[in-house]
Amino acid sequence: MITLRLDKGSYTVEISGETPNEVLAQAELFSALPATCPLCGAAVHFTHRTPQKYEYFGLACDGSPAHESTFGERIEGSTLYYKGAQSWSIAPVRARDCQPEPEHVPQRAVRPTPPPARPATAAVHHQRPPQPAARTGYRTHPADRPA
Ligand SMILES: [Zn+2]
Repeated sequence: MITLRLDKGSYTVEISGETPNEVLAQAELFSALPATCPLCGAAVHFTHRTPQKYEYFGLACDGSPAHESTFGERIEGSTLYYKGAQSWSIAPVRARDCQPEPEHVPQRAVRPTPPPARPATAAVHHQRPPQPAARTGYRTHPADRPA
């Protein structure tokens, strides 16, 4: 058993495997990841987004504006890889809603939520109650009162 521990500053990764090949194949992604945002130097955290049926894993920073880099995924073995410092850009606003996702989550089918059913429309006219006469010392003529 081989255990490799990578200290990335804000997080630590521990990778175990039976052979060096096994360990290094997993270590590649984490070894390449920056400990801080390459654009602004802020702390980074993992992200996991599933817009429509797609699934994105990545790294985002706590800066303002927040930056984000999404990982590439190799078709063979479906392993993730870091696309490098040039892959960082300003994160879409929705990325801030994501919770850090440090562990791999199996692919889920995301069902789009249908729009809420609209209640049957009925024309309802609310009648305003008659307003009391303004306290000005004289009575408002009924014709001048608001309807
Ligand atoms: Zn940043």
